[in-house]
Amino acid sequence: MTHKARKRFGQHFLNDTVLINETIKRFAPQSDECIVEIGPGQGALTYPLLNACTHLHAIEIDRDLVPILQERSKKHGQLTVHQQDVLTFDFHAFAQAHTRLRLIGNLPYNISSPLLFHLFSALDDIQDMVFMLQKEVADRLCAEPGTKSNGRLSIMAQYHCQIDHWFTVPPESFDPPPKVDSAIIRLRPRQKGNDFSIIDTADLNTVLLKAFATRRKTLQNNLKGMFSAEQIIAAGIDPSTRPETLGVAAYIKLTQLYRESLS
Ligand code: SAM
Repeated sequence: MTHKARKRFGQHFLNDTVLINETIKRFAPQSDECIVEIGPGQGALTYPLLNACTHLHAIEIDRDLVPILQERSKKHGQLTVHQQDVLTFDFHAFAQAHTRLRLIGNLPYNISSPLLFHLFSALDDIQDMVFMLQKEVADRLCAEPGTKSNGRLSIMAQYHCQIDHWFTVPPESFDPPPKVDSAIIRLRPRQKGNDFSIIDTADLNTVLLKAFATRRKTLQNNLKGMFSAEQIIAAGIDPSTRPETLGVAAYIKLTQLYRESLS
């Protein structure tokens, strides 16, 4: 059985054995865990994962890949393929019958942002996630305050998860090679009840949309109509600063201020 890579499904198959082994070693899958691979493709990560954990769930949209995966996985362990668009996969319902999920995948880059937001709504059911992403997106997810990559996605992701950069991956590690560098990162959902879970995500989103509406404007200008300069100063934040200079803690304060202003 042969398969030609499909552009519309973002198919770039990993062919770097050292990277695959190193990633799986760090991920350290265990037999008693519920592990779900997103986008198994031709099984570059799937078979080594199965060797380590014996049973694996995989969500793959390309129906032509399903028989290939099923046939080739037999000698490695038990693979359950869910032939489905991951953006419509109900992780919460799936997790009811399982322990908290561990997710892994070399993600299709064209859907990585909507997929991350889909997963952020299911974090109660997720233990951790290890993903290969376009490096530019990984940089935004891991961005420090004051850097160019820091933006709405960074704050939202870091509000929900602790994020670690694992590896930067060059195009030659894939077949066909993508036009951009990639990176592997790990996201671990923050525990409920910590300082980060005291606000409503929808409120945070409202503040972020306004704060980052125009990057070259100051916070005060972007937040006009929501807060006065005095209110921003009272929250301990310099209103003349640019939105990307602030980190999660400052945006939590602004979100609390926003909530108070509504009541
Ligand atoms: N894991 C394989 C590897 O590393 O070689 C394949 C990775 S490839 C970058 C992305 C995979 O995700 C492809 O197999 C593709 O068919 C699948 N995919 C693309 N869009 C998807 C979607 N919406 N839902 C589920 N799988 C999807």
